Order: sequence, then C-alpha cells, then structure tokens
Amino acid sequence: MTVPKADDPTGLPVSAPNIVASPAGRSMIRVRGMTRVYRMGDATVHALSGVDLDIEAGEYVSITGQSGSGKSTFMHLLGCLDRPTAGTYELNGQLVTRMTDAEQARIRNKNIGFVFQTFNLINRTKAIDNVAIPLIYARERRTRDRAMKALEIVGLKHRWNHKPSEISGGERQRVAIARAIVNEPSIVLADEPTGNLDSRTGEQILDIFDRLNAAGTTIILVTHEMSVAARARRLIHMADGRIDADAPVTDALRTELLQSAVLGAAHFEGHVLTSSAAGIKNKKN
Ligand code: ADP
Ligand code: MG
Repeated sequence: MTVPKADDPTGLPVSAPNIVASPAGRSMIRVRGMTRVYRMGDATVHALSGVDLDIEAGEYVSITGQSGSGKSTFMHLLGCLDRPTAGTYELNGQLVTRMTDAEQARIRNKNIGFVFQTFNLINRTKAIDNVAIPLIYARERRTRDRAMKALEIVGLKHRWNHKPSEISGGERQRVAIARAIVNEPSIVLADEPTGNLDSRTGEQILDIFDRLNAAGTTIILVTHEMSVAARARRLIHMADGRIDADAPVTDALRTELLQSAVLGAAHFEGHVLTSSAAGIKNKKN
C-alpha cells in the first residue's frame, strides 16, 4: 500500500509501514520502570533510572535533555540494541525484555529503523548496497529493487552508484534514512540525526521525517536543538536518566521552542519545566 503526499518534494509516494496492531487498549510502545546501570570496574553509572512511557502508533516524539541525561541509552533500549538492567518493554503487546537475542533481532529488523548522528554507513560500499543491508540480513528478495525504491523516497536515486565518500554529509544521512526505511519499519529512531549537518541540510532531513510520519511511521527523534524538537508533535525532556516533562507540542510551545532556539537551550531548560501556559505537565515520579 502506498500513500501519495501532495507536499512531497520528490513527488513520490512513501510506502506505508508494516504496522502491526497492538492488542486493544495497549500502546504500541509500553515502557515501565526501565533502568540501565552501566558497570565499569568498581564504578556504576545510573544512565536510566526508572522510565515509564507510552507511545502510540503514528506519533512523532522528540526527546531532549542535556548531554549525559540518558537519551542515547534510552534509544538503544527502545531499538532492542541493548537490554535494561530492570523494568519492562512491550512492543505491539509483545514483551521484548523476555525475548532471546535472536527474537529481538527479528523484531528489530522488521519493526525498527535507526538513524544515527554519524550516519554509520559502510564507506567502501555503494549507496544501493548500504541501503540493501537490512534486506540481506532479513533474507528478503528483490533487494536491489527495494533499495532503489528507498533511495528514490529520500530523493537520491541518482546517487545509487556512489560511495559515501563521494557524496555530501546531507546525502549520506539520506542514504542512512533509506537504509532505515527499506524494510518499511513501523518505527524510526533517530539519535541527533541533524547533529553533523548545517541547518539547511538538516531541514531536508526533517522534511523526510515529516513525510514518513504523514504516511504512518512512528518517529522518535533525539535532539538538543530546540528548532529540531519543535518539528515533533510531542516533546519529552530527560534529566538524570528520568523523564521530567512530557507535553504535546502546541502552537504556543512551538513558538517558545523556536524562541529558545535563538536564546539558547538554558532558557528552554528552565521554561519547559515551569510553563503552565504551554500545557507542560511535570511527571510525578
Ligand atoms: P545522552 O545521549 O543523553 O548524552 P547517554 O545515554 O549517552 O546520554 O549517557 C548517559 C550516561 O551513561 C552518561 O553518564 C554516560 O557517560 C553513561 N554511559 C553511556 N553509555 C555508556 C557505556 N557504554 N558505558 C558506561 N557508561 C555509559
Ligand atoms: Mg547521546
């Protein structure tokens, strides 16, 4: 099934993702008491300290917070790249935390696409072969056709034959997004996807996320840039391994976020926790 979009800059339909219905009354993502403690010799780091969170299919959520607040740790856990020290994670009603590594890998491959700040492409491999990697892991057929289609969605079909070193940073990230969506996952997790790009190139990346979200893909995006966070429809703020604010991005909040992007994040850090006008709810736990 495809969903044509009028404001699609490439003029191409985006494929609808592999959305699996959750059991009635259950969120697509359901996290309870999620905790991650890193042990390094005698030292322990409490990177995540009891996070509760529900995310529905089709949401566009941004996660902000200072460096070291646990954002990447949380993304790795949501992406089944890591296991929590304590707590539970249900995805589409399935208890991921109980699964074997092989079962988690299957869930990840089918449901989740990852986009990283540093693109994480294989340098000596052409764009089309980078994009096809998840299909090859999943032992899918027609891998080149499907990789080409994913490149087309991000507007890079004409670069299929280029290696990462032969294209710009923005184009590399678009190849990485094509790789993330080639399996038509229901969720795309992006950790600082515009962090290495200038703002205009970053906009192009965010436009692709908008289109994917409009076609039904759930987007969870980590960023420390308020102008990027403002693109989402829900904003989560983390501090010291906890969620300390969670609010819909209303027009009023979007305006505040864009102002704080100019004034600096420190302004926002104070504001998001105190502003009642913007409808921010502080979490009790
Ligand atoms: P953020 O993405 O918000 O900057 P992280 O999730 O990367 O935060 O890190 C949270 C905390 O956990 C930090 O104190 C960081 O140093 C620590 N940390 C992250 N990854 C590891 C790791 N693999 N081993 C040990 N400590 C880690
Ligand atoms: Mg991080």
